[in-house]
Amino acid sequence: MKKQTHTILKNVFGYDNFRPLQEEIINRTLEGKDSFVLMPTGGGKSICFQIPALVFDGITIVISPLISLMKDQVQALKSNGIKADFFNSSISPQEENEVINKAMNGELQLLYLSPEKLISVSNTWLKELNIKLVAIDEAHCVSMWGHDFRPEYTQLKIFRNSIPDVPFMALTATADKSARIDIQEQLGLSNSKLFISSFDRKNLSIDVRGQVQKKKKLQEIINFIKRRKNESGIIYCLSRKNTEEVASYLKEEGHSVAFYHAGMNHEERENTQTDFINDDTKIIVATIAFGMGIDKSNVRFVIHYNLPKNLEGYYQEIGRAGRDGLPSETILYYNMRDFVLYSQFANDGANSGMQKEKLNRMLQFTEAKSCRRKILLSYFGEHLTENCGNCDVCENPPKDFEGTILTQKALSGIARMKEQDGITMLINVLRGSNNADIHEKQYFNLKTYGIGKDVSFFDWRDYIIQMANQGLIEIMYSENSALKISPIGWQVLKGEKKIRLTTPISAKDKKKTQKVAKTTTIDEADKDLFTELKKIRLSIAKEESMPAYIIFNDKTLKLMASELPTTENEFLAISGVGMNKMEKYGEEFMNVIRKFKNIAKPRKITTTQKTYNLYKEGLNPTEIAEERNLSITTIYSHLSQLYLEGKEVYLEKLVTKKVLDNVRIAFNELERKVELKPIYEKLNEEVSYGEIRLSVTLILKNE
Ligand code: ADP
Ligand code: ZN
Repeated sequence: MKKQTHTILKNVFGYDNFRPLQEEIINRTLEGKDSFVLMPTGGGKSICFQIPALVFDGITIVISPLISLMKDQVQALKSNGIKADFFNSSISPQEENEVINKAMNGELQLLYLSPEKLISVSNTWLKELNIKLVAIDEAHCVSMWGHDFRPEYTQLKIFRNSIPDVPFMALTATADKSARIDIQEQLGLSNSKLFISSFDRKNLSIDVRGQVQKKKKLQEIINFIKRRKNESGIIYCLSRKNTEEVASYLKEEGHSVAFYHAGMNHEERENTQTDFINDDTKIIVATIAFGMGIDKSNVRFVIHYNLPKNLEGYYQEIGRAGRDGLPSETILYYNMRDFVLYSQFANDGANSGMQKEKLNRMLQFTEAKSCRRKILLSYFGEHLTENCGNCDVCENPPKDFEGTILTQKALSGIARMKEQDGITMLINVLRGSNNADIHEKQYFNLKTYGIGKDVSFFDWRDYIIQMANQGLIEIMYSENSALKISPIGWQVLKGEKKIRLTTPISAKDKKKTQKVAKTTTIDEADKDLFTELKKIRLSIAKEESMPAYIIFNDKTLKLMASELPTTENEFLAISGVGMNKMEKYGEEFMNVIRKFKNIAKPRKITTTQKTYNLYKEGLNPTEIAEERNLSITTIYSHLSQLYLEGKEVYLEKLVTKKVLDNVRIAFNELERKVELKPIYEKLNEEVSYGEIRLSVTLILKNE
């Protein structure tokens, strides 16, 4: 019998609604068909195969190359009461036997396997299992064109062909069009349906800051971190040496920080990673080696200390922020020097043409004067119709003006200096500065000396870079960065072409609009409670030796801190709380909330009270849910709570007679114990927890 997927979503995972595409993918899988799922990191891919795994009578095999992630994923499933295990090179022969036994005895709903283990066992015990679904995570690893090719993945097609009637699901967060075709071909998924969800991560703000000198950059980062006390973040650097330098600088300033790069030994890296995941280290300064095996939901910021090599990498790296959906910030610093350095690398390496092309796209992105998200998404084939409002350009839209004369001043300066000097000398001459170099070269005799006095040094710098970006000037990195005039530049100088420039954004303007972390929308009282809830979570995590976010993620804790649930009903209504976690941890967390409620000053009316007020005004549950921007399940649970308190709420209208009768039968058969889980199971997991509680309440109240 097909169990209701919505009910599983709420009861097991604690979520009220599917995200876009999840339900379609699940339904198609339940029909036994193949799917190809392309969703960004944090988009919610796992649920697409986990829910079918719970519906099917048999086992779901999950192939993943990320061994370090498997344990966490399995722990997370177990914490939701799901029977799952993993099989990879990290476990002992004895543990292997235990897992095999469990799988053979039908005691597992999901089994995670590394591709090499799959190959080695595919002709032994694995063949005996009642496999109902195979999910291939990180499916791009099968493509040789991708950036993360794993030879073992190419064997998966044989496995696929050995069980042709079992649905397969390929999942990945990175694959352009040609890679997608390749992946489908390689895995033998010719009849799969492609599901692509939006790659727009609206909760990530994008900020790009160019040409910031090292000292200022470090100062800005320090200021940024100071205003985000206790938040987790990643700072990406180009070189190993850089990561150590920046980390030690931040450490001196008293921050909780560690560095990470491929030059460290395995154990050091493992420990650094674990401390970060467990919130024992707040900030990691790393090369891009860091992050692949990390599934941490509360990373609040990602800073690029240097220019990334391409937009794919950049998007993947900033994507590690805000996986819990809460507002998170990203900053990218870039310097022409990074660009030059990479260009040189690219010259030497294989695939040089493509690498350079990608590098150029990266630079264009950083220099762009229009909505960054639009540019980024269009690169990935998605077109936004409106500006995002959450990037630095949207927040400080540039104003452009007729800049031909200004440009001509600069160009003639270059011409008169015989294209021998760099940007600083040019500006000093234009501004009529009086220094030793100018004296030595006798530049004060030039006609252009002092013709640009009225423009500040920094504005000139910005304009000249704009001129370079418009192709009027070339910066000759091979000749001490001397400026040369291009053919178009000469046209401008001769008055044959007009030029528009944009007003530079001064640091002052930028500060004005720089919001202090948008994540601080949670008010002060809530914040104290949030801190308390985090403490409890950490102590449970230590006790059960698992990462804290597996117990509840930050988003769920924040909801607890603002909604203040103190009854089972209210607690279950929090997004991210399923039945298993409610039973396991509910009391501990609610005790903290109750204590807090008692000592806190009388504050705003409770969430249940708010619902009641609207109910009394005559709104129906759906309208209340809309008005309050909460889910209908939440409103139902408020109403049943109110009913229990003896308020005038008509629950009878909210459950159908059929549901009520079924619950009554199950309830009686179970000797009328007020335990909801047995009833839920008795009813084939088809009736939601909220409805069961409502019905039981009605049954007991009305005898
Ligand atoms: P991915 O594998 O695509 O990177 P995950 O499957 O890890 O993403 O999901 C990211 C986060 O979103 C997880 O914390 C997950 O529990 C949560 N999530 C997934 N689906 C939903 C949903 N329908 N409602 C709320 N949260 C969800
Ligand atoms: Zn924008």
